[in-house]
Amino acid sequence: MPQPDLSVVFPVYNEEENVPILLGEIAAALDGRRWSYEIVAVDDGSVDGSLQVLRDSRTKYPNLRIITFEKNAGQTAALDAAWRAARGTFVVSLDADLQNDPADIPPMMKMLEESGADMVIGVRVNRHDTWSRKMQSKIGNGVRNWITGDHITDTGCSLKLVRREAVARVKLFTGMHRFLPTLVRMQGYKVMEMPVNHRPRQFGISKYGAMNRAFRGLADCFAVRWMGKRMLKYRIREEI
Ligand code: UDP
Ligand code: MG
Repeated sequence: MPQPDLSVVFPVYNEEENVPILLGEIAAALDGRRWSYEIVAVDDGSVDGSLQVLRDSRTKYPNLRIITFEKNAGQTAALDAAWRAARGTFVVSLDADLQNDPADIPPMMKMLEESGADMVIGVRVNRHDTWSRKMQSKIGNGVRNWITGDHITDTGCSLKLVRREAVARVKLFTGMHRFLPTLVRMQGYKVMEMPVNHRPRQFGISKYGAMNRAFRGLADCFAVRWMGKRMLKYRIREEI
């Protein structure tokens, strides 16, 4: 396949019921549109039937590529592998659990093209999570923005579309996928936000608890703040 316009990437950790539905939704959203696309699924060491389901799906979806990890390495690692494997001019990431809606991808592509931005990130307007999860996010986004000096409404939304060259420059560390818009912005790229759909998780379970999110997240905020302060800022005047 020649280089596609778009790579749709998602990390998979024990999402066997969700994967077939997700693939169908991606195809429904993108087949017949003006963008050529590939799908890159990263199996992050699933111990259910996810990998088999992915393998079996390749006959129906020949544009599906699969990367498998030796063992569970976490969501940031899976996303990093996906972004590195992606061949599209643009890359859109989303969760495999159907909480994000692939129908949002075409409007995001249009916004990116029309605005000339380098990244469009989703803002979950009708968030379908527990009250305590929504509260954690509210506090998390507030603290994050306050410490990093950024202004991102919903950095926890996995639905993110980015010019691949922009994400290729970012060195990721565990947990840092949540700071991707800030890290991309630090490189001098333009990031925009767009309201997107959000749905309740129907199958499988959430992989996170409140504690691992909050405490690690706080340390990450300071790391990102430090990076922002220490960014190399220079422009070459002349090369002789
Ligand atoms: N995920 C992963 N590796 C992990 C944990 C999660 O690949 O170690 C994937 C998971 O399968 C899903 C996405 O990351 O596609 C988000 O996970 P989850 O839905 O559990 O997070 P939440 O929506 O609760 O924040
Ligand atoms: Mg989820």
